Parts: sequence; C-alpha cells; structure tokens
Amino acid sequence: MKLVTIAILLTIPFISLISQNKENKLIVLDRLAYEDSVKKIPSKELINLGKKIPNIVLDIKYATPNNFTKQVIYKEAKAFARKPVAEALDSAQKEFLKHGYSIKVFDAYRPYTATVKFFEIIGDTRYVASPKTGSRHNKGCAIDLTLMDLKTKKELSMPTEYDSFRKEAWAEAPVSDSEILKNRTILIQVLTNHGFRVNKTEWWHFDFVGCAGFEVLDIPFEELE
Ligand SMILES: [Zn+2]
Repeated sequence: MKLVTIAILLTIPFISLISQNKENKLIVLDRLAYEDSVKKIPSKELINLGKKIPNIVLDIKYATPNNFTKQVIYKEAKAFARKPVAEALDSAQKEFLKHGYSIKVFDAYRPYTATVKFFEIIGDTRYVASPKTGSRHNKGCAIDLTLMDLKTKKELSMPTEYDSFRKEAWAEAPVSDSEILKNRTILIQVLTNHGFRVNKTEWWHFDFVGCAGFEVLDIPFEELE
C-alpha cells in the first residue's frame, strides 16, 4: 500500500470524530452570556410567572423533597419562562379564569445543572432528559402544570399524579372517569389554542411551539432577580 493511501486511511476516523464533536457540542449559557443574548434579542428574557400572571399558583415540586428524586433541587420556589412563552401562558390563564379555573405550575424554566442531577439519579433517558442535549425546560420553553378550581382552591382531578411514570400519564391514555377526562381535555385544549403542545407521555408537560433559537441556560433562580 502506498504511503499516501495509508496516510488518508489513517486520517478518515479523525475527521469524522472532529465533526461529530462539533455537532454534538451543547451550548449552555451562564448568566453573563444570557444577559448578553437578551440585549441582542429582548424576547429571550426569562419572565417571573408568579409576578406576570394574575391568580397563578406555584407548587414548585423540585423546591421540596416531594418529587421523584426525593431531594430538594431548587433553592427557591419560583417559575420563569421566556417572554413569548409567558405571554402565551398569560392568555391561556385568561381563558381558564373564565371557566373558574387557574393554572398551577409544578415546574417551568429548569437550570441545566438540575437536568444533569436528574440524569445522575435516574440514569435513563426514557424518563429524564439527556445532559447531552438538555431539555426544553432548560431553554425556558416548557411548563409542567395542572389546573385548580378557583372556588375550592383544590387541584382538578387528573389521570395521574405529577411526574408519574405510569402509562395512564400518557396524554391520550384512555380515561374511564368522565370528570377526569373533562379536566384533562380542557387543560390540553386551551393550552393548544395558545401555542403549546402537550408531551405524548406526560399530560402535565407542555412545550411552547415557537422556541427556535432559545439556548439551554444554566442560571439558578436566585441569580435571575
Ligand atoms: Zn416537563
């Protein structure tokens, strides 16, 4: 074999390795990089949902040990989302209020560090996002939520509890109880009308549809305000 041929053959694996690294590299913005990005594109701002949306209720499970990790992940019980996501949620809330309901948020923007921690605990990308890609929560583009009754202040009955890994949690899983079916239907319908898409395997998880260009962020809540 000629020397040139050998040299080419030896180079090929290195070339493919380099391009793979380039494609797979996840960009994670810290606070300064995020602030810079907001200066250039103001719609990237993370909005405090508790302040922006009237009557919204926060029940931030990861700020308590009452979540699937059994650990306190967040230091503060707050919820943030990118500006267009917060605005869409605000308009959905206006519609829910007309029905006598209010949005109750379990989780919204999630710092990338938390996603890494979830993966360390669960270690299975069927149930938690891979740290290689991050999740839409990390981009401030996904909300976990349910509805509560404004009069009774109680959560509406839904097919499962939050963060259930059961098949009944799937958004289109059959429901025999007509009340539960009605509750899940109004939740999904109103949010869909306002630009969200329900996750196939989690009735409580909604992705905002217009999220292109929003980066994965790693800023703890206490650094956001
Ligand atoms: Zn979620």
